[in-house]
Amino acid sequence: VGIMPEADCIFCKIVKGDIPCARIYETEHVLAFLDVAPVAPGHTLVIPKAHYANLFDLPEEEGRRLFAALAPVGRAIMAATGASGINVQMNNYESAGQVVFHAHLHLIPRRAGDGLAL
Ligand code: 5GP
Ligand code: ZN
Repeated sequence: VGIMPEADCIFCKIVKGDIPCARIYETEHVLAFLDVAPVAPGHTLVIPKAHYANLFDLPEEEGRRLFAALAPVGRAIMAATGASGINVQMNNYESAGQVVFHAHLHLIPRRAGDGLAL
């Protein structure tokens, strides 16, 4: 937990630029990029640049920064994809579906009748 990148963390490597990604929004502390395996077009991940494993490791200030990014990024994704709705999802721990243990929020564009079960 903390400020230093974790050696084997995929998202820390994305932050550093060691793994390529489609960056769609970036501040000093927050990065948003397209999910490599989207469940819907425009599926985006919003992460703190610093490494925290999940919601419960995330300092309040970092949580505020993530939350502050949601509306502008979500609005841009909806405009770009033509989606009529959007889900915000966070998986914490393996049993809840967390696979990458660097805290992240999913932004998932939705359309009426798209059949997604989230
Ligand atoms: P989780 O299940 O941990 O909430 O979600 C992890 C997400 O990260 C998954 O939706 C997965 O597709 C995405 N992901 C995993 N590895 C990479 C990667 O190397 N690049 C990008 N852009 N997304 C990734
Ligand atoms: Zn990390």
